[in-house]
Amino acid sequence: MESIEECVNILHNAEYLIALTGAGISQESNVPTFRGQDGLWRQYNAMELATPNAFRQNPEIVWEWYAWRQGLIANCEPNPAHLTLAKWENEGILKVLITQNVDGLHHRAGSKNPLLVHGNLWDLKCTHCGYRGSISTPVTRLPRCPECQALLRPDVVWFGEGLPSKVLDQVFVELERADAIMVIGTSAMVQPSASFPLVVQRHGGQIIEVNIEVTPLTAIADIHLRGKAGELLPQIDKQLRH
Ligand code: NAD
Ligand code: ZN
Repeated sequence: MESIEECVNILHNAEYLIALTGAGISQESNVPTFRGQDGLWRQYNAMELATPNAFRQNPEIVWEWYAWRQGLIANCEPNPAHLTLAKWENEGILKVLITQNVDGLHHRAGSKNPLLVHGNLWDLKCTHCGYRGSISTPVTRLPRCPECQALLRPDVVWFGEGLPSKVLDQVFVELERADAIMVIGTSAMVQPSASFPLVVQRHGGQIIEVNIEVTPLTAIADIHLRGKAGELLPQIDKQLRH
């Protein structure tokens, strides 16, 4: 396994470092993963609720589930991994942050403009017109569009839906520019995000992976740092300043 020194070396030499984060970075903030037992809410699992069809058939139950998740996340705090990335962004060490997470913890940690490939639990969009809005406390009843009165839905990507194309376009511009990408807390199995690091590598960029376990990315990563993101990132940050 590679060392933090080698990682710091890459970071020192990188001219355009970007990061990709997944559910693992929020694990130490106690955000549920919605996998296995963790994914159950009443008798439902996430794959039955996070779909356009579920929302068409029963918007009340889907919104109730989102309100419950919003309540859980409202009680979670960004951890040292989120905070370190926000600090690096602020200092210009990190150019762009791409996240698959919908929990909003990067925002709360101070990251200014993360590219949200799966949307955000706190953003809403109209099911009829182009209205988009944002809330900061959990919904308490079925939200309606202030412009056309149609139902509002969470502005997140559901199973069976495509990723927002404008965001994806931006992501690919960044992947082409990057000469290093740090991939933190993602299983590297959900497409298309799983292939993002490969785009960077294809044009000579380096991949640093931070994960508590081996993933399909590990074999091709230049550096694999095994451990918790909330512990490793502050350690890397400390060495970066030596
Ligand atoms: P995943 O659940 O498939 O993989 C999480 C990865 O994080 C695993 O490889 C695991 O080993 C690693 N990990 C766990 N704890 C860690 C820690 N403390 N430090 C470093 N690594 C750690 O997550 P994914 O790849 O993001 O894909 C799941 C999808 O579900 C995503 O697309 C996401 O949109 C969605 N999701 C989001 C959230 C959230 O917003 N927090 C939570 C659950 C699921
Ligand atoms: Zn509307």
